[in-house]
Amino acid sequence: MEYKKNDLVQVLIEDMSDQGEGIGRAGGFTLFVKDAVAGDLVEARITRPKKNYAYARVEKVLTPSPFRVEPKCPVHRPCGGCQLQALDYGSQLSFKQEKVRNNLVRIGGFDRELVDRILEPIVGMENPWRYRNKAQYPVGEDREGRPVAGFYAKGTHSIIPCADCLLGPEINGRILETVLTYMRENRVEAYREETGKGQVRHILIRNGFSSGQIMVCLVICSPGEKLKREGKLLPAQEELTEALARIPGMTSVSVSINDEQTNVIMGREVRCIWGEPAIRDVIRVRDMSREGCPPTGRELVFQISPLSFYQVNPLQTEKLYSLALEYAGLTGRETVWDLYCGIGTISLFLAGRAKKVYGVEIVPRAVEDAQENARRNGIGNASFFAGRAEEVLPRYYEQGEGAEGPDRMRHPDVIVVDPPRKGCDSACLETILKMRPDRIVYVSCDSATLARDAKLLCQGGYRLERARPVDQFGQTVHVETVCLLSKLNVEHHIEVELTMDEMDLTAAEKKASYEEIKGYVLEKFGMKVSHLYIAQVKRKCGIIERENYNKPKSEDSKQPQCPPEKEAAIRAALEYYGMI
Ligand code: SAH
Repeated sequence: MEYKKNDLVQVLIEDMSDQGEGIGRAGGFTLFVKDAVAGDLVEARITRPKKNYAYARVEKVLTPSPFRVEPKCPVHRPCGGCQLQALDYGSQLSFKQEKVRNNLVRIGGFDRELVDRILEPIVGMENPWRYRNKAQYPVGEDREGRPVAGFYAKGTHSIIPCADCLLGPEINGRILETVLTYMRENRVEAYREETGKGQVRHILIRNGFSSGQIMVCLVICSPGEKLKREGKLLPAQEELTEALARIPGMTSVSVSINDEQTNVIMGREVRCIWGEPAIRDVIRVRDMSREGCPPTGRELVFQISPLSFYQVNPLQTEKLYSLALEYAGLTGRETVWDLYCGIGTISLFLAGRAKKVYGVEIVPRAVEDAQENARRNGIGNASFFAGRAEEVLPRYYEQGEGAEGPDRMRHPDVIVVDPPRKGCDSACLETILKMRPDRIVYVSCDSATLARDAKLLCQGGYRLERARPVDQFGQTVHVETVCLLSKLNVEHHIEVELTMDEMDLTAAEKKASYEEIKGYVLEKFGMKVSHLYIAQVKRKCGIIERENYNKPKSEDSKQPQCPPEKEAAIRAALEYYGMI
């Protein structure tokens, strides 16, 4: 039987798609049902019938799933931005963990057992509401021609008025109201896509959560001749800036001109019309091995301009960066590349524990922010390059003239990548493989492209060693993941195998990583010790109870034993870190 548009079907939702639709089967058909969650029995209306499957939306929930909750936002269905709002938060986290796991297996081709062993549990949010520090509201008109701001209804360009998105701070409602009142009182028109007429297109708000600073940027079409002659961008510009300036925390008001008829929100240029051109925010590194992840003391201040990328969930970002830093395993002697570095956030945390960091970022203004951020935080060992990672990296690989001489730059110890959703360009991945760093830390906002790229890196001589999802985007289907890939080669084989051991760490072991112990021994005693030796001493001290994955495979192969002077040095390190 084939379904027609608008048919009503009763269906039990058994699973959920990556996009957050409920999946169920009815009459031999697979149905993708919007706004249904796993476990629901629903009556669904067919919206788009296809040959063997159909899209539908919930008409009525007949028996709610035990995982269903009442969505908090009144416009969550038409808006569609929070695909998982009807699912309880614990189930949202399981959904995301599964999504990453499945992508690594299905797209990455990794063995399911390996993924189960290395994939650590998702880092959830303490409060999955009001976490976003950035909002972009489209501006339009209601039926009476009055300006409104809100969100595009999913898949359309009609605006659903909404002053209070529950993912952002409450103050945003007051900011929107201030801009709309200014528009009404001064007859400033909203831009109309159909005709290309009108002026105000979008309102961008950024909140520095730690600093309390607020930035507002109005995206507008070019001002008319009369305004231009007056040297203004908006009519009664001072009325707008004066009203916004009364909002506590307001630090920066700017305007971006965008005359293009595309989906890109921001124009190329931004002009500050009141206050400072950027806002600041503080990020602290956290101790991810401890419950509640307390800050460890290291904190950096960042300057953020309207055109620069900045992570949208500051609290979870601290956890994400802390994991990336842990995975990088730095001791202070490494040369590191940080590709897709934005305003240098990850780079500058890495710089605190590395010898030298090179950042690459495509947006020139973000590179300027990165340089300013290095200066502001007193960091002198980070350099930034503007350009595409897939062009800058090969260029330095081929030429390799750096402050430290070509070799360190061409063969860094660690490469960190944090690309946009489409993942890394193949030219970038190929150069990474030629550079052969010991470790690659891949920070990803799309586990499908992460899996694709990790597969390629593993085919090129790396091994997937650790991975952990971090929920940066509660209520939505999106999830961030950090991955550690280690170089496989004959000499390093033992090391890699042992690092696998770190997967199920005992409480004592979590206090310091192998890299930290190695670093301490080198610093204090001037001795190099291997992972193998550290593991042997740990086992002697009763810190590791489990079996060593790295046990010799054949009976006659023998592992070297840790000499006594090195054992003494390792014991001193274990004591220093409070492990014994
Ligand atoms: N690591 C940063 C930014 C991550 S977002 C942070 O955590 O804040 C991805 C960044 O990659 C954005 O700043 C974007 O401008 C940049 N980007 C996109 N394509 C790029 C490319 N081909 N080469 C270099 N940078 C790129």
